[in-house]
Amino acid sequence: MTQKTQQSSDHSSVLAAYEAVKARIQAACLAANRAPDEVHLLAVSKTRPSQAVAELAKLGQRAFGENYVSEGVEKATALASLQLEWHFIGPIQSNKTRAIAETFDWVHSVDRPKVIGRLNDQRPSDAPPLNVLIQVNMDDETQKAGCRPDDIPALAEAIDQCPHLTLRGLMAIPQPRTDRQAQLDVFQSLAAHYQQLAKAHPTVDTLSAGMSDDLEAAIFAGANLVRIGTALFGPRSKA
Ligand SMILES: *Cc1c(COP(=O)(O)O)cnc(C)c1O
Repeated sequence: MTQKTQQSSDHSSVLAAYEAVKARIQAACLAANRAPDEVHLLAVSKTRPSQAVAELAKLGQRAFGENYVSEGVEKATALASLQLEWHFIGPIQSNKTRAIAETFDWVHSVDRPKVIGRLNDQRPSDAPPLNVLIQVNMDDETQKAGCRPDDIPALAEAIDQCPHLTLRGLMAIPQPRTDRQAQLDVFQSLAAHYQQLAKAHPTVDTLSAGMSDDLEAAIFAGANLVRIGTALFGPRSKA
């Protein structure tokens, strides 16, 4: 990877990448016996300029994901007139919850009670409830974001108590696995936690899993929101 692609590419290559990703999602749905419109595409625009977001929006993409609060706020503000849907997908620092609650429509990375209380308190009361996913750490990586699977029920209860938050489901970022069966195993285990959660909480309808390298396995296991950066925008110079 020697080439930097922080500059936005020309229009035809953006279109080609967008069509290719949508075709991969369609093919994965077909292989899994699922309806293609069940699976939503979140375009992960971290490190990409606002102009790249605007180009993809022009092609019809509405939902964009950001990992860094200030960068996301900047783009959401610059592109406010496009009325896009913004998802925060990065690790949450407690001192950044206000900006998240004020700017984003969705948060995928809620993993502890303190953050739940702060997001609820800081969500502007004239805004619709913030859509919340609980991030699950499927690999028992203690230093990484995400709760343990055992903690899901208590966090879900806490979110349900919050009038300014709506519990929508689960998100996970499993460690990269090159073996397709290993990818499937971890996503199926995640999907089992998701099914259990959905049974107990009627607002739950979203399983956020799958990235550029493993979206097929995630869709096969039941993901209905895939988060795609590289396959849409090219390689990042910085993750
Ligand atoms: C960067 C990132 C993605 C996108 O990953 P790609 O491999 O570039 O598709 C998805 N989800 C999260 C949480 C990310 O940080």
